Amino acid sequence: MANTKHSVVIVGGGTAGITVAASLRRRAPRNLDIAIVEPASSHYYQPAWTLVGGGVYPLEKTRRAEASLVPSGVTLIVDAAKEFRPDDNAVLLESGDVVTYDYLVACPGLILDWDRIDGLPAALGKNGVCSNYSADYAEYTWSCIQTLKSGSKALFTQPLMPFKCPGAPQKIAYLTADYLRRKGLLKSCDVQFFTATPGIFGVPYFAKALTRVAKRYGMGVNVSHNLVAVDAGSRKATFEIVSEERKGERVTQDFDMLHVTPPQSAPDFVKSSPLANEAGWIDVDQNTMRHTKYANVFALGDAASSPNSKTAAAIRKQAPVVVRNILRSMDGQALDPGYDGYASCPLTTARGKVIMAEFVYGGKVTPTLPLNPGKERWVNWWIKVTGLPLMYWHYMLKGREWFPGHNTKWSGDDTK
Ligand SMILES: Cc1cc2nc3c(=O)[nH]c(=O)nc-3n(C[C@H](O)[C@H](O)[C@H](O)COP(=O)(O)OP(=O)(O)OC[C@H]3O[C@@H](n4cnc5c(N)ncnc54)[C@H](O)[C@@H]3O)c2cc1C
Repeated sequence: MANTKHSVVIVGGGTAGITVAASLRRRAPRNLDIAIVEPASSHYYQPAWTLVGGGVYPLEKTRRAEASLVPSGVTLIVDAAKEFRPDDNAVLLESGDVVTYDYLVACPGLILDWDRIDGLPAALGKNGVCSNYSADYAEYTWSCIQTLKSGSKALFTQPLMPFKCPGAPQKIAYLTADYLRRKGLLKSCDVQFFTATPGIFGVPYFAKALTRVAKRYGMGVNVSHNLVAVDAGSRKATFEIVSEERKGERVTQDFDMLHVTPPQSAPDFVKSSPLANEAGWIDVDQNTMRHTKYANVFALGDAASSPNSKTAAAIRKQAPVVVRNILRSMDGQALDPGYDGYASCPLTTARGKVIMAEFVYGGKVTPTLPLNPGKERWVNWWIKVTGLPLMYWHYMLKGREWFPGHNTKWSGDDTK
């Protein structure tokens, strides 16, 4: 057992952890001692897994060695956090070591609760059961799509909120429908989207545009249907209805392909920690990203309680606020309440077409480009496939914050 001390300890070296470390390295005094606690040897650009599943992006291009991304001068502790002890400014690690800090940045992401669906863990990766939510199964999604033939039935599921990237469950449904259309199979196949939520998308402006897309493909949209069981042998999926009128009723569907988005929650060591709110997420102020109780603790990314869409795009705007606020806090200055809930979801509606959904707290639409954001566009496809990965690896993860601002004054939302 060893005790070490660092000025800033970052728990989790994913999107948020590396972005904050790199930004701090550039903006803080050179002698600031920063450490990242991260057990994994690989780091993934998860937003491209939708494209991997859609057969247009190699999985290998989404992976980098974790150690290669840690900014120079930052210590990488290859270990997992086991317990947050904020009253002692300490984190207990799986190895038994204890790391203490002046400031903690908590960003260990979320966990995929595959086992909350009966039969799913055993079914995944075979008999047509796939998921873009894991590097282990995203390539299998593409195999499943290619085996669809005339008369096939493909189901796509979406759990209750919150889960990361709220557009991802339906993006792959559209890419599949588009593939079938190109092969001349769409009319003879049955493509169904089942969501546990009451609507297709949480922001009404984009929900309206997506409803049009689903209709164009002849895709069924079944709301308030929560996947509860999968029988891979007989290829049957069971849904429980969660709407008031038919609450608890069960519906079973046959499938040839089943793309599952699993329920998601905070990691167990977060849920049981003094940092968690009632729902298990790290309890932060939604604008400053500082913990509501511990003044030297900040959190961002998927593990944080802020009610934004859990996306890498959100982290792009949260990380500069966290870094600024750590530095202000060190200088005894007031915090910047600058995070406005921005998130972005490039909705792949076909190969070569994307609706760029960008919005802030309250579902306000805030486009970055001066173009109608409800339209499917090729330029957005280019941004999704080429521009955003470049921005991720070469700007975000390097602490370069030359990002264009989103337009908070846009007034074209006709759903208001
Ligand atoms: C299929 C899919 C499509 C997506 N599409 C988009 C998109 O189009 N646009 C977009 O912006 N976002 C998208 N996202 C979401 C985006 O990838 C995530 O929101 C983002 O990566 C979350 O970053 P994070 O740092 O919070 O978590 P992660 O990047 O998941 O990192 C968490 C890190 O913490 C580590 N960790 C876990 N437990 C511990 C522990 N006990 N101790 C220390 N470290 C620990 C993990 O190993 C991991 O490295 C998508 C995600 C998926 C899965």
